[in-house]
Amino acid sequence: MGKDQQPQPQPYPVQVPLAPPSYDDAMKNIQTNVPYASAPSAGFIPPQPFAGGTYVQQPPVIEVQRTIIALPLGPTPARITCPRCNAEIITSTETEPSCAAHLCCLVLLIIGCCPLSSLPYCMDSLKNVRHTCPNCNMFLGSYQP
Ligand SMILES: [Zn+2]
Repeated sequence: MGKDQQPQPQPYPVQVPLAPPSYDDAMKNIQTNVPYASAPSAGFIPPQPFAGGTYVQQPPVIEVQRTIIALPLGPTPARITCPRCNAEIITSTETEPSCAAHLCCLVLLIIGCCPLSSLPYCMDSLKNVRHTCPNCNMFLGSYQP
């Protein structure tokens, strides 16, 4: 009765071959997966320098910010906004002889026209007009005819 039950090791060989093949397959899958995983990441790097390139293009944009205060100043008082006190003012003007006036006076003296040497200082076309702010006395510009 007991002898019939001893020689039956069938379940052992069936279970052993199942486990090892799956382990080897797993090892091979990992090896083939590694190069695959690194390849996509390498292809992802090129787009990054592109993003940096757009960053470099920002400095030129700053150059566009040119604040040239071109005040419309003529020979007469002008109504402008003072850049210092930000008040809307009418510029106070004062005339001063220009370099051309000094030059004409010098020439008249040299050629012997002493009575006429002061004439250039009376000509409006030889005078500069200085515009200043009546509030803060800031020099706003000069008009040169
Ligand atoms: Zn002012």
